[in-house]
Amino acid sequence: MEEKIEKLKAQAAEAIKNAAGNLSELDDIRVRFLGKKGEFTTILRGMGAIAKEDRPKVGKIVNEAKAEIANLIHQKNEELKAREMQNRLASEKIDVTLPGRQQPLGHLHPLTLTLERIKDIFFRMGFSVEEGPEIEKDYYNFEALNLPKDHPARDMQDSFYITEDILMRSQTSPVQARTMQKNEPNAPIRMIAPGRVYRRDEYDATHSPMFTQVEGLVIDEGITFADLKGTLELFLRQIFSEDVKVRLRPSFFPFTEPSTEVDISCVMCHGKGCKVCKGTGWLEILGAGMVHPHVLEMSGYDPKKASGFAFGMGVERIAMLSYGVDDLRLFYDNDMRFLRQF
Ligand SMILES: [Zn+2]
Repeated sequence: MEEKIEKLKAQAAEAIKNAAGNLSELDDIRVRFLGKKGEFTTILRGMGAIAKEDRPKVGKIVNEAKAEIANLIHQKNEELKAREMQNRLASEKIDVTLPGRQQPLGHLHPLTLTLERIKDIFFRMGFSVEEGPEIEKDYYNFEALNLPKDHPARDMQDSFYITEDILMRSQTSPVQARTMQKNEPNAPIRMIAPGRVYRRDEYDATHSPMFTQVEGLVIDEGITFADLKGTLELFLRQIFSEDVKVRLRPSFFPFTEPSTEVDISCVMCHGKGCKVCKGTGWLEILGAGMVHPHVLEMSGYDPKKASGFAFGMGVERIAMLSYGVDDLRLFYDNDMRFLRQF
């Protein structure tokens, strides 16, 4: 019996020694010798056949052998684990001297670039930038701007209504009314209101149901039409070029009186006439006028003490003319081939 145990022990030791492969092979060996159905358990189960006085002795030898094997397995286990770690460290080694992967750097959208330029010019003339909600009350979008519910000029800008009294703003002018009403009575204002506006419109080369607008408002004592002309001329020369010519044409807006369309000499042909200016040599660029006394009154200003002018322009139009883009939709299509050029 002792001989058999000795032999089994040697077999186990040999198997452990040769278990070069991996941890699961070692576990198989553990199960084979020490497991519930393992070789040593079988011997202990067969104790009945051994003489009673020999049983403690045999039991002791078996247990010692089991402990020895368990110890060997433990040692081998550590050894294999260490080797596995070494292998992993070797195979997963990182070369820290490799150059990093470059992240492509983006840039601002051409409309944002144009808006930044517009803001910068007005900022230098002492204008503040005011903002307001894109979902607006009918009151601010129309009524406070001298456009009561039945006014025919409302047809000029078919709007997206959400309820009877709430709509997607069709212009950034409501920000002007909001600023006037927020101010102390007759306090001077010099502001621009940039932002998105929404109108029920076609989606083609020159129209979009959503576009970006910048409106401006100046109110103070003694503001005249000369201030309007001077300010807008200075702006247009800075945004386009020093030699651009400016022309004013009479027009109508419900919230200004008198009102004017402002044209510039064509930036493509310099006034000679081309496809862009339809042969006229002029481009319509913005609308403006002296703030209607009724609009001043409605927002708490006294038309006898304060006067002012207002103007509005489309950022897309200015971007198209300054970059020579002939289709408005290019700004919204997010085609990288187009956007990368700015
Ligand atoms: Zn032209």
